[in-house]
Parts: sequence; C-alpha cells; structure tokens
Amino acid sequence: MNLQLSIGQLRKLLELDSSPQDDAFIFNEVVYDTRTIVKGQGKIFFALAGKYRNGVLFVEEAYQKGVRFFVVSQLPDSVHSDAIYLKVKDPLKALMTLAKWHRRNFNIPIVAVIGTHGKTTIKEWLGSLLKRKYKLVKSPKSYNSKLGLALSILGLHSSADIGLFELSISLPNEGELFNEILAPTHVIVGSIGGKFDENFSEKNGKKKEYLNFMKGAISVFQPETKTDDFFSGNKGVIKLSSSGFQSSLTALGFQDKIKEENAIMAMGVADYFGIDIPKDIRFSDLAMRLETFDGIHNSLVINDTYSLDIESLDAALQYQRSIAKSKNRVLLLPKEVMLPKDEIESLLERYAPLTCHFSNELNLPASDLNDAVVLVKGNAESSMNKIAHLLKVKQHRTKINVNLSALRKNIHSLKDILPKQTKSLVMVKANAYGTGMKRTALFLEELGIDYLGVAYTDEGVQLRNYGVKCPILVMSPSADDFHDCIEYGLEPAIFSLQLLDTFVSILILKKRMGFPIHLKIDTGMNRLGIKPSEISNFIDILNSQPELHLKGVYSHFAESDNQLDASFTDHQLNVFKDSCATLRKHISYPFIKHIANSAAIISHPRASLDMVRMGLIVYGINHNLKMEKKLYPVIEWLSEVTQIKHLNKGDTVGYNREFIVKKEMTIAIVPVGYADGFRRSLGNGKGTVFIDSKSCKTVGNICMDMAMVDVTGLNIREGAVVEIIGKNQSISAFSAQLDTIPYEVLTSLSLRVHRNYIVT
Ligand SMILES: *Cc1c(COP(=O)(O)O)cnc(C)c1O
Repeated sequence: MNLQLSIGQLRKLLELDSSPQDDAFIFNEVVYDTRTIVKGQGKIFFALAGKYRNGVLFVEEAYQKGVRFFVVSQLPDSVHSDAIYLKVKDPLKALMTLAKWHRRNFNIPIVAVIGTHGKTTIKEWLGSLLKRKYKLVKSPKSYNSKLGLALSILGLHSSADIGLFELSISLPNEGELFNEILAPTHVIVGSIGGKFDENFSEKNGKKKEYLNFMKGAISVFQPETKTDDFFSGNKGVIKLSSSGFQSSLTALGFQDKIKEENAIMAMGVADYFGIDIPKDIRFSDLAMRLETFDGIHNSLVINDTYSLDIESLDAALQYQRSIAKSKNRVLLLPKEVMLPKDEIESLLERYAPLTCHFSNELNLPASDLNDAVVLVKGNAESSMNKIAHLLKVKQHRTKINVNLSALRKNIHSLKDILPKQTKSLVMVKANAYGTGMKRTALFLEELGIDYLGVAYTDEGVQLRNYGVKCPILVMSPSADDFHDCIEYGLEPAIFSLQLLDTFVSILILKKRMGFPIHLKIDTGMNRLGIKPSEISNFIDILNSQPELHLKGVYSHFAESDNQLDASFTDHQLNVFKDSCATLRKHISYPFIKHIANSAAIISHPRASLDMVRMGLIVYGINHNLKMEKKLYPVIEWLSEVTQIKHLNKGDTVGYNREFIVKKEMTIAIVPVGYADGFRRSLGNGKGTVFIDSKSCKTVGNICMDMAMVDVTGLNIREGAVVEIIGKNQSISAFSAQLDTIPYEVLTSLSLRVHRNYIVT
C-alpha cells in the first residue's frame, strides 16, 4: 500500500500519548486479515471486531508472520516486548481516521457513486472509460462498507489521477460520516429503490443523508429521467441525458431501461472528464462476475474476465484462496497483461504457491488442472472468457445458480437480529437444502459460522472429507455410526438411553474421554427425543461417565411458523427451559441450550437462547412474507429454450396426446423434466415458467427430461433463458403450484441439475 507514516504520527492522529522514539518506527501498509499476510515487516495490523470473531484473537498469528505494530481494542493474552500496541476504543474508527488523513494528501478528483442499485455497474463502466486517459484508483467491486471505504481510500497513491469509489449509505448519519472521510469532489447518484428506506425514519430520510454526503462536492450527477426534485436547489447538479450518446446507446443495444440509464450515467460523467465516447462502445455484463463452475479434469473454475486491474486481481486471488483450501491453485492471465510488472509479481508472491500461465490459448498440461482451482482473469478485450468456457464441463442446459453472496447477506442480517452471544448453527442436511453441500458448507465455515448441522452421520463424514473443521451436530445418528462419529469428530444427538449406553461402551473401547454429545429432548413434537420425565436417568450416566461431555441440550418446535397461535410453541419452550434447569442443577458445567429453527428466530425471539439452528431462512425463504422480502434469494433455477414449434388446430402435444391444440399456437420445448425435480403434476397448465419475464404455462404432460410451454404471441427465440425459479417466480410461489412447501421443492432439485456458484 501507499503509506509512509511513523507510529508517532499515527499516535498523534489517534490522539494517543506518544513518545519521541515512536518516530523511528515506520509502516507502509495496513492489514486486518492474517490470511493475507506473507511478510509482516512494515505492516500495521488493525484488530477489527468481526461479526463472529474478534481481531484480537489473531494478533499473535500476525506477530508470528512478522507484524510488529498493532491497533487493538484490548491487549492480547501474550504481549511481546518488541511489538507496539496502540490501544484504542474502536480499531475500525481508528482505521477510518487514518483513511481520512490519507485522503487529504491528494488534490485530485474523488468521484463517489451512491444510490441503492447499479453502483457497481456504473463504477465499473465509468472506470473502463476513464481508464483510456487517466490512472485510476477505484474501490474493488462492491467493497462499500465502512471498512471497504477506508481500505479503498488507503489505496490512493501518488500517481493516481482520479479516485473512483462506490459506497452505500445505509444507516443514519453515514452521509455525514462518509463525507467527512472521503470528501468527494464529484458525486454520482444512481438509482434509488425501495430497500433504501428501511433504516431511515421520515425525519432522518435519505434526502438528508445524501445531501450531507454531497456537501462540498463540485458537481453532482443524476439522470435527467428522475422526476423527483431530490436535489433541486443544489447548485452543482448536472442532469445527464442520452443526447450526444444516441449512437453509442444504439450500439450497446440494451433492452433494459435500467442498464441504459447506468450506461448514460457512465458515459455522461466520462464525457465531463473529457473522454471521447466511442461509437462502437461495448460494456460487459457484470452480472456474472466471479462465476464459479466445474471444469474439466475435475477442476473448479473461477471465471472473472470482465476487467483486469490490480485491485480486482487481488480480490479474485483472495476468493480463489478461500475456496481452494489445500488444493492447487492456478492463475490464467492473458499473454499481454497491461499492468505494472512489479505489482503482478508482488501479488504472485503474496498468493504463493500459485501456478501462473500467461497465454491467450488453452495450452496447459492436464496435470496442472487436475483437481485444481483455476482462476481465469482477463478483461473484455482479451479472449480469456473463451478460455474459461473451454474449461467448462459440458453440461445439461438446465442449471441452478447458487448465489453465495446472497447467502452471506442473509446470515449477516440474521446476526444483526440475534442477541450477540447467541451462536449460530446452519443446517446443511439434504445437500444443504439443495444448494450443494460441499460448496455451501465450505462457504459457511469461511464466514465463521459456529456450527453446521446434518441429519445423518454420512453427511457429517462427507463434510469432514471436504475439509470442514468446525463443530458438526448429527441429529439422527444410529448406533452403527458411532465409530464414524468418533473418528470424524462429529457430535451426535442422543435421544434414548439405549443409544447413550452403546455410545459410552464404544467410547470406553476407544479410550476416549469427554466426547461432546447433545441431548435431544422431546417437548411435544413426538418425533425423536427423550421425554422430560426421563431426564433423571440421563443425569446419573452423564455424571458417572467421564467419557461423555454434555455439550448441548436441544429440542425442536412443531409449529413455530404458526403466525396465528403461539401457545403450543410457548408451551414447548417452557417445557424445554424447565428440562434444562433440571439438568443444570445436577450437572456441574454449563451446556449450549438450543431450540429455535428459522421460523422461531423471526416469530419467537425469546427462544433464541444460546444457539439457533437456521435452515430455510439462510436460503432466503421465510414463512413471514414481510421478512422474506428483506432476504436475498439464494437459488435461481434456469433452463433454455431448445426448440420452438408452431402448431395448428387439431395437433396434439406430448405423451398420451394429453393436449389437443384448439387454435394455432406456438410452444417452446424446455429441457427440464420430472427427473430434474420439475414434477409431473405441473403438466397441463398447472405449472408456469417465465421467459423474457413473461409467464408461460405448461402444455401437455411433463416428460422425464423435457417440458413444453405455451409461448404463443411472445416472440421467443430458441436459446432464450427460461426461469423456473428466480426474480419472477419465487420458490414460495413455485411451491404453491405444487401444493407443497419450499423445503420439498429445494430438496427435490435433482442432483443431475448442475449447480453454479456465484459471488457478486
Ligand atoms: C431441519 C432442522 C432445523 C432447521 O429447520 P428450518 O425450519 O429450515 O430452520 C432445525 N432443527 C432441526 C432439529 C431440524 O431437523
């Protein structure tokens, strides 16, 4: 990074007492994640408090990697005499103060993109235009939290001509705070949509925040089409319209109004900075940036071929490392990389061991690909996107997109609702609710989830084989599985005396002590579990067998999603609490009490206790539709029109000639059938899919691998994308057509349907 600051200067900035010798200690880079540190010399570690982990826990690791300067909220357990610890109340705030100071060293345009939607698109598109003439420093994709803002500012360096930042102002007072730190000279206001208002009261509205953020800016850009007089009276407002860019817009050929508006914003601002807008302009679609899919030779491919700059390369390498664990990592770059050589080299060193190939063709040995995680990086002009697709395993044209970023956002919102000390377990049983257990579980672990939960021991063994290290609860183990539970470190639920007895005898045989178990109490569901009246028998065994450690006690609600009558849930919670109290009275140590599932987290917050077991909700679905609106859908199920057919009166469609054409019509053949989970009961008009955002009903019976849908009058072409589940049709809506619940839809998505993982 681009700092050159002494500890003495930093102490002054942070208003800490300083001593003269501090001026001798210079640092030039800020780090906050120990995984990214290779050589710690000259770096300062900010021990930030994360949602799950406190940075203080990583201070020692940073020390071992050579870091000697630390900004902490509390001193770590072991303090070294050759290290300097600056103790502050809030390390994040200290980092922001440093960023604010750094910003003041640059007298260049600082362009900020705000708004609720399309910020990344506008920023990236504008960046691609400005790059023709200027050296840019821009915030990496969607890097727009407080931390991201501070880090992006710290990326400003002396050869930069323009700084380009995107940021979300999503909390009261952030407008003013961000203005103070970033001091933007130019502000672009993108689209403003509904989600924005949630954290704002009438009085503390968005207008005020936005206006606060713009204070001191020379110019504010907004689309001409915005009719609200949001910024009227603000002298520097420049309204951007399509005039002057008409031919470029035609070349872009966007069908979609929002994309068009984003393009106008990018071109208008670039024009303001003196860029000639090319008539044959192309903007790449950002929607699929960092797309991950299965590659040939058992590889996993990350396709990030939209833009190639140091920041995005860094971010992509970081992502690659986080999913690769111990697998080999390969980086494919174009032959001519128009980036500073020393910066590339330092990245390659930072992410070592990494095999890197510079080529515009796919000519690397299969042995390099074998079981590796391959990052293909390039920009719109290079042919790297083609290479990524050559690496792709050819697949069935029906696919499920799993949006891991949405999963992360859902979990973060839940974390915000839950009491701070409540742990979270995420259920990844049944192939992680259809999303694919391997990738989902590894991603959740990376996020810092406390526990994963599965139904069967086999699933737990698989998780361990994938490299998952966090605690795993197995809810329905059988006595035959206990060897595996012990070998693989899986925590079994115990729901009968007989099971406990068997488990203890195996532990004795294996000479294992203090093995964690969870006692399952049946509080009224009448499924697995011991009755509260049986508890005393268990207490005796738990107290007399040192082989056992009662790690948790849990139960399960029968109808926590009943929004009309909470009485049974209350009853279950009371029975559970009483049982826990009895256990606690006779057991000398505390244990984790957990009873809440997804629905209970929302409808019965007092049931959250020591840990919650979240399932459906993290995948973006909730019984409470108001809540569901706030969640991000994780799953999208898409297919593609294989063929279009025009039919005449009297023709019939499909097996048993179930459908008879009454008047001329057009149908589309879609390669999705009941073997994929598109059930046969959806045939003959009961099921709907969306093509081009238009609803199309099924025609005739659903086949094993195909379905026919009515596209009469819709002007649909072969190859068009077919949405089965997505923005037009939620999982809840789709389940309703099937007379079932989202759980069943998700878990009946067939394994044959390829899962694509997307990080936005
Ligand atoms: C599946 C399951 C959960 C998660 O349920 P959701 O309704 O998806 O949140 C929690 N606890 C137990 C015992 C389960 O079987």
